[in-house]
Amino acid sequence: MTAFVFNELNFDDHEQVVFASEPKSGLRAIIAVHNTNLGPAMGGCRMWNYDNEAAAINDVLRLSRGMTYKNAVASLPIGGGKSVIIGDPKADKTPALFEALGEALERLGGRYVTAEDVGTSPADMANVAKKTKFVAGLGDRGDPSPFTALGCFVGAQAAVKHQLKRDSMEGLVVALQGLGHVGYDYARRLHEAGAKLIVADIDQAALHRAQEELGAEIVGIDAIYDVQADIYAPCALGATLNPDTLSRLKATIVAGAANNQLATADMGEACRQKGILYAPDFVINAGGIIKVCYEYLNTPEDGMDAHVRRIGDTLAEVFARADAEGLATSVVADRIAEAKFKR
Ligand code: NAD
Repeated sequence: MTAFVFNELNFDDHEQVVFASEPKSGLRAIIAVHNTNLGPAMGGCRMWNYDNEAAAINDVLRLSRGMTYKNAVASLPIGGGKSVIIGDPKADKTPALFEALGEALERLGGRYVTAEDVGTSPADMANVAKKTKFVAGLGDRGDPSPFTALGCFVGAQAAVKHQLKRDSMEGLVVALQGLGHVGYDYARRLHEAGAKLIVADIDQAALHRAQEELGAEIVGIDAIYDVQADIYAPCALGATLNPDTLSRLKATIVAGAANNQLATADMGEACRQKGILYAPDFVINAGGIIKVCYEYLNTPEDGMDAHVRRIGDTLAEVFARADAEGLATSVVADRIAEAKFKR
């Protein structure tokens, strides 16, 4: 392996990166603890058939660093970390694999707390929990997605107020990509607030349900970038804000749940120059981690709804500072996070 880790952009002073292997179960995992200044690092465990080990390292470092920013800006008492298991989630999963991950987490003594992510499920986390208590979001207390959707909705309201100087969603058109766990619930809230929906998904059943229940208009998966809309709501894929889509979008607000919406960091500034108000993904989609964190820390849940709703206030601050300082909203959001977690 070439010695690229310390110079890798996303290494960014990770406190600890652990390579964990367990031959009997076949576990090959990387656990990245980016920063624990605010509390134990928390972030999900991704299982993916990476092309090579360098790709897995890059991914875990990028995701782990991102969790520090997301958790800090959401004012949670946790740091940022992530883990990846190298393997095919459709073929290589066994209970022993996740128990072995649990043993590796136990050896870290609570510096990192895992949860489900792409390629892993609450059932997998139940196997992790056989060996360690440092696991959250076991699914026994509900799906975090509705909280992510609530955060997106209040985030969209803040964006509408800032950009369109309106307090109401009534009559606004939202181009929503991805009617999954988060997207559908977000769409329902928008519909109830009087917005008109134009939707795209590869799942025909989800499309028809949105048409029937929410009066949504259906367009093709590529056509969603061209429709006349006030808000573009990416709730499926990452990297959908790129030079091609930015030249096509008619919406002046981007407010959606997807992770890593900017194809490259400079797309934040590109949005600003095009007059598009971008609600930074890691700010607007923090509702789910807020829910998981409350559960894990046994925080009384009566304050949880209000905590998720403060995403709207945080975004209002991001938008105002971005205007005042002539900066991209993504840059301002990074600075707000850094002011909280950097010592
Ligand atoms: P999901 O898998 O339930 O839903 C994704 C939806 O996107 C599915 O309906 C899928 O059919 C659709 N889709 C896939 N490819 C598409 C394409 N090319 N065009 C249009 N639609 C397509 O996932 P989710 O839990 O709803 O999460 C959605 C996004 O939000 C993801 O990027 C996820 O990382 C992010 N996110 C989710 C949460 C959460 O609480 N679930 C929290 C933070 C961020």
